[in-house]
Amino acid sequence: MGSPIVLSLFTDDRDLAARVFRLIQRYEDALTVNRAVSQVMAVNHAAGLHPVKVSGAVYDLIRCAKAASMVNDSAFNLAIGPLVKLWRIGFQGSRVPAREEIAERLPLTRPAEVILNDHERSVFLARAGMEIDLGAIAKGYIADRVRDFLRQQGVEQALINLGGNVLALGSPQGAWSVGVKKPFAAADGLVGVVDVANKSVVTSGIYERWFEQDGKRWHHILDPRTGYPLDNDIESVTIVSDDSLDGDVWTTLIYGFGVEKGCAVLRQREDIEAIFITKNREVILSSQRQFRFTLLDDSYRISGCTA
Ligand code: AMP
Ligand code: MG
Repeated sequence: MGSPIVLSLFTDDRDLAARVFRLIQRYEDALTVNRAVSQVMAVNHAAGLHPVKVSGAVYDLIRCAKAASMVNDSAFNLAIGPLVKLWRIGFQGSRVPAREEIAERLPLTRPAEVILNDHERSVFLARAGMEIDLGAIAKGYIADRVRDFLRQQGVEQALINLGGNVLALGSPQGAWSVGVKKPFAAADGLVGVVDVANKSVVTSGIYERWFEQDGKRWHHILDPRTGYPLDNDIESVTIVSDDSLDGDVWTTLIYGFGVEKGCAVLRQREDIEAIFITKNREVILSSQRQFRFTLLDDSYRISGCTA
């Protein structure tokens, strides 16, 4: 998944840990688009040709990803694959593509052209050259499955960290403290910590994967409307929610909305909370019903969503 995986348990149970890692591996094998073979790649290879039947789990995730992509003004787009492959951000050979290359690929990224058949559990990409990319949500989905598995095994307290996606089970000593990284700082630099119990904490930031060209940083969260990296005043968004899949979808949605509209949308969603870090060193918190935030870096100012 391109990031380290850390599992914290309170019992010395190597067998359980090994089973968790096998579970993660199995889901990654099904969902990846960074290798030639996977269930999602089978769908991509058949673009413009025929529908492909997938497992129940993969189908459900693709269905959820399509729904998030069809939301009005959504920055999330499961069909973003051709643009992700063009930019290659985070991989060897990344570069700013020519305007014409981007313009050519935009018509291959229409989520409405991902055709689902609930009865057959099949996925059909209507146009040759289309590609599904679940990179923005695969970790969230897998983190949720690991949580379900651990609960099934009777584990009440654990921390699952899939690099950016943290799922906290239970609440040792009252809460888990999850760090919020300081954008573009050293690996251990934190803006603050979020205290939660039984919650997912997902962060998506423009400092995670990027390259520099022509004096500008180009990061890995693309705006499906333009084909270029999303450009606004946000450096990272952290979402606190029950399910990590929701956190993963919402970080991308909120990125696209920006601070003001993001805050407005969140006022209607009691189950989703956000922490924005902006380029001008503001930490903007939503209602804080589900978490407590402690600022550790006093070069940042805290403000609320209502401000
Ligand atoms: P995350 O780190 O969770 O924000 O996910 C970033 C990854 O999601 C990228 O590396 C791409 O694979 C993919 N991606 C980039 N832009 C979008 C988008 N607008 N919608 C959905 N997935 C995207
Ligand atoms: Mg994500």
